[in-house]
Amino acid sequence: MNDRGSAGARRRAGHRLAPDVVPSHYDLHLDVDPERGPDYRGELKIAVLLRTSVREIELHAAELRITKARVETAEGGLVARALLRPDSETVALRLARPVGPGKVELQLSFTGKLRDNLRGLYAASADGKRYALSQLEAADARRFFPCFDEPAMKARFRIAVTTRAPHAVLSNSPVAREEEHEGAQKTVHFLETPPLSTYLVALAVGPFERSVATRCGPTEIRIWHVPGKGKLTGFALEAARECLLRLENWFGLPYPYAKLDLVAAPDFEAGAMENAGAVFFRENLLLLDPAAATLAEKKRAAEVICHELAHMWYGDLVTMAWWDDLWLNESFATWMAFHIVDSWRPEWKMWQDFQHHRAAALRLDALRHTHPIHCEVLTPNDATENFDLITYEKGASVVRMIERYLGAKTFQKGVRAYIRRHKESNATAADLWEALGDAAGEPVEPMVRGWIEQEGHPVLSLRRGRSQGRSVLTVRQERFDAASVEGARTAKPSRTKPTGAAPNGTATRQKWMIPWVGRVGDARGRARIVRKIITAATARVDLGAGETRFLYGNADEGGFFRPLHDTAGLRALTENLPMLTAVERMGLVDHQWALVRAGRAGVESFLDLATALAGEEEPDVLLTLRGPFAFLEDRLAAVVGGELPERFRDWIAANFGPALLELGWDTRPEEADDRRLRRAVLVGLLGEIADWAPVLASAAVRFDAYLAHRDAIDPNLADAVVTLAARAGDAARFDAMLGAFEHATTPQERRRFLFGLAEFRAPKLIDRALALCLTDRVPTQDVAFVVVRLLANREARLRTWEFVKKRWPRLRRRMPPMLATRLIETTPVLGPKWRRDVAAFFRANPLPTGGRSLDQALERFDLDTAFCKVAAAPFAQWLAKQPDKK
Ligand SMILES: [Zn+2]
Repeated sequence: MNDRGSAGARRRAGHRLAPDVVPSHYDLHLDVDPERGPDYRGELKIAVLLRTSVREIELHAAELRITKARVETAEGGLVARALLRPDSETVALRLARPVGPGKVELQLSFTGKLRDNLRGLYAASADGKRYALSQLEAADARRFFPCFDEPAMKARFRIAVTTRAPHAVLSNSPVAREEEHEGAQKTVHFLETPPLSTYLVALAVGPFERSVATRCGPTEIRIWHVPGKGKLTGFALEAARECLLRLENWFGLPYPYAKLDLVAAPDFEAGAMENAGAVFFRENLLLLDPAAATLAEKKRAAEVICHELAHMWYGDLVTMAWWDDLWLNESFATWMAFHIVDSWRPEWKMWQDFQHHRAAALRLDALRHTHPIHCEVLTPNDATENFDLITYEKGASVVRMIERYLGAKTFQKGVRAYIRRHKESNATAADLWEALGDAAGEPVEPMVRGWIEQEGHPVLSLRRGRSQGRSVLTVRQERFDAASVEGARTAKPSRTKPTGAAPNGTATRQKWMIPWVGRVGDARGRARIVRKIITAATARVDLGAGETRFLYGNADEGGFFRPLHDTAGLRALTENLPMLTAVERMGLVDHQWALVRAGRAGVESFLDLATALAGEEEPDVLLTLRGPFAFLEDRLAAVVGGELPERFRDWIAANFGPALLELGWDTRPEEADDRRLRRAVLVGLLGEIADWAPVLASAAVRFDAYLAHRDAIDPNLADAVVTLAARAGDAARFDAMLGAFEHATTPQERRRFLFGLAEFRAPKLIDRALALCLTDRVPTQDVAFVVVRLLANREARLRTWEFVKKRWPRLRRRMPPMLATRLIETTPVLGPKWRRDVAAFFRANPLPTGGRSLDQALERFDLDTAFCKVAAAPFAQWLAKQPDKK
């Protein structure tokens, strides 16, 4: 029964535990003390129901040693032989005689090691003190203790921990009792948990301090942090309370766990992790001084806190049955966080933030090597690969589209029913569709499945015309391909087969059911909304009898598709920009750039649009220009060479400089956020991209002032000021920044100065930044981010790539799998000459979770090369025609 073929075949096919062995309860006693050393011991009893008679019971265990194994049955106990199977990360308990069917108890003693790779139960350190922390998603509970490590195998956990008396010990449940032992030891016993998937179990041990508690109804909320950071907890406590209150109202169901601890982990792989009742975060998302943090940092912290709290219902209480529905967890929590934080702080304009994320998801999803939101997952590594923009941001965009299609009330009713039906259990996408369909009184699957199960997304070609005295819109849908540009697909095919993509440059037959919403402007300057469900490849939409002055093809950017306006349509939009919402202007910029990159429009169409936005007052719209400007300056203009890069920089300065001069550098105390943010975005565009002398000079002065007094500048300017100071900086400034990093009093500041170290341009200073990455002065969680920034730094990128290749074995140990893929994703900045080298290197040194990222990176190399070839001449010609405003 348990023989599933050779080890190799198992690994290839993915290995699942037998469904007829069902765990219901774990009793876990752990002896762990991070100060004593990395070794820990555990005693474990698991109550299991055997549905059949077996002579072998298999469960997960990896990097653990099993020192004793027994099976207790109603007829007495049996010694089991524990056979570790590293290929499948399991242990088989072999018995001398068959047991079951019926209830048995597995009794295991084991030992493990706290490693520093941020997986399983791992070691972290801060200020010379040691901590033990767990991070178990997707499939690392098996590295912590032997268990049935699949999300559908939910069970109750009773956890006890023996450690030295002064340590704080935290887990999912409240403490039931504590026992003191001789030798300054204690055992902390926690109350039993409700049924949980193994990946949601949590443990933190070490000299943590705790904040005062705040309450949300009966729920006590606390923040745990390394010593001395207590004064930074106020913002997160408020955000947690406000979000929890709104989530309880939205779900119509109280918070499902007995308490809520938020733990600021000194070293952490993900941004945060939704362990039931004990959520772990990176410090910068939880410990924050509202007076010194940027608005973006505060919004991000609130959004991530809310995302994790949304998981308490959606993910923890109701859990996906298997990792192929990871998106059920993540898309929903992502959508919910923006929805709830927006209702708490409407002035933060959260949906404009979301638009930036969504734009990144659209870019990724236009590649041949994208994947459907719902996709097959065989192994834990497959699951880890899916923690990406498709699962989170595309998924959240589709959730948003469904919500708008069904209506907010119907959608909420359906989700509430889904949570009630499946609480403390597991569910699949089909269960969600059923609940939503019941609420709507019509099946939702026909609309939804196309978006969830097909990869890619449509582009809608829009043409306005008149017919029988009425305005008519013709809409044609096809899959959007990032590579319509001639030659972009001529390079050798990548390692794996792209899934279901079209042959070179041709449209596919993929179709979506699109709940289309457009914004129409009439001759009298009023705008209204037009809706149509589009199912066919081509559709006609009646826009009414009057004349339409303009049409925007994705109102409020509510749909996950790109509108392609024809030349006349785009001109009309450019002339009516103030009639669009800010999110629509952001969308227009992003879509036009993507269409240009794909060869569906000329580069001058984007540049004309950018020119029309010179007076734009919404910071988020200006920020949308940053990515395209950076590519044009750093890559396209650089390919052409000569005077072109400087001409483009001058053009940026001439068009966007006046707005900054008018705002000035100095902030008034009562100044609105929008003005502060606009100043910050303009400083970025003009300083970091255009190298505009007045900005560079001001930044240098302000950096010195900022180093002396952190309140010397508006915090929103701090990132740009630090970056610009580093670029022009010498060794003395490097030392000053390194000192500021090591003595920073907030996690945000620490991060800002650390990232600043990656912006220096002198070769010796680049080498120093690289060398730092191999020392524990840079926490494991940040190494990949620093290397990515060094790769993005024009003067540092080749040195960095050589360093990565040469020091790979050491570097890799400092980059957990999810973060190492970021490095692969960034390699296209190296430029076309390095494609072959990057491909060869990562094929010789593959990352288990990096296969898809490598394919995507190689595809991006090709797209960049093809685009630069096509766009260079028109770009130069367009610039030559621009009036000289100097
Ligand atoms: Zn999540």
